[in-house]
Amino acid sequence: MEQTKNLGIYIHIPFCIRKCAYCDFLSFTSEEEARKKYAESLISEIQQFEDVKRWHVTSIFIGGGTPSVLKEEETGRILEAIQNKFNMDEDAEITTEANPGTLTKDKLYTYRRQGINRLSLGLQSVHDKELKLLGRIHTYDDFLKGFHLAREAGFSNINVDLMSALPGQTADSWKESLLKILRLKVEHISAYSLIIEEGTPFYEKYADDAKLRDMGEDCHILPSEEEDRGMYYETRRLTGEYGLEQYEISNYAKPGYECRHNQAYWLRQDYLGFGLGASSLIDNVRLRNTVDLAQYNQGIFKKEEREVLSLQEQMEETMFLGLRMKGGISTVEFETAFHTPFSAVYGKTVLGLKNEGLVQTEDERVFLTEKGFDLSNYTLAQFLL
Ligand code: SF4
Repeated sequence: MEQTKNLGIYIHIPFCIRKCAYCDFLSFTSEEEARKKYAESLISEIQQFEDVKRWHVTSIFIGGGTPSVLKEEETGRILEAIQNKFNMDEDAEITTEANPGTLTKDKLYTYRRQGINRLSLGLQSVHDKELKLLGRIHTYDDFLKGFHLAREAGFSNINVDLMSALPGQTADSWKESLLKILRLKVEHISAYSLIIEEGTPFYEKYADDAKLRDMGEDCHILPSEEEDRGMYYETRRLTGEYGLEQYEISNYAKPGYECRHNQAYWLRQDYLGFGLGASSLIDNVRLRNTVDLAQYNQGIFKKEEREVLSLQEQMEETMFLGLRMKGGISTVEFETAFHTPFSAVYGKTVLGLKNEGLVQTEDERVFLTEKGFDLSNYTLAQFLL
């Protein structure tokens, strides 16, 4: 029997109840009718996809936007379309992102019945003042209610997103957010620093401050680079104390609860994105769907931006993405993939970075040291060819 490759599937739901003040994701507010129409278009896109036999699906990730704004039956029909079309692994990881302000008991029980076995809750902070500033639609109490309902419904694999380096945030308020979530015994935490993105209301307010910070100068409202780094160290320390291991620059999990879907991205396995603006990587060709909703709803999904990655780009990506993970990359796998000795391509780079204490090698693997993780932007940039 022909061997099939692993495949991750990403489903993009571009709707939110309200736009958060820092958000530059492809998401917008919508009416129920528009969401219904979109779900139909998504199902058509999945049904029309050909050439599925060479894969087996190891993970599905429903992201956004706010996937939990869809009606349960719409989510169910989207999942059914995938299950009818693709070979699914029996134990595939099926995640949906959810906004704590949109969860109900019915929705959570239905998700479980539909086979969703991992929930990713976008909380960001336990402080209502910070949540308000971010423009989130929920309070910490809403989150707690949703979290406990999810446990009751049988979710035993829950991620919570938290965000540091918020305007006015102190080391203590960050620590409190972390501790409160760790005490809930979550399986996974994603902890990212806020990035001030152009075109967002936060950019209007804080761009100047962010520039000062990036230049290493004193800023007024945003935590300084040093404070931001302090929060990162605290995250590493506290998650460790509560039995969560840092397995990627920004991700911490109990052993066995690492997000398989994201790991597949970092390992550059094939993935297929369905939905508005969704990206795919198939056989080293990167494709992107249209970002025009009207066009998408007319059935012109077109994985339209097509980029064939050169060998050099593939090698660089292998290093950039692979080294984000604690386990790093395997030089043996690198050589099998590129038919070139690893040392001929990166020998000098690795030696230089080892001398700086930024990378380590062991058992034919290369990985970042703690210092390398701290200085990951610099360290990873050295792998550009
Ligand atoms: S809920 Fe998420 S996707 Fe939606 S606006 Fe807020 S940050 Fe953006």
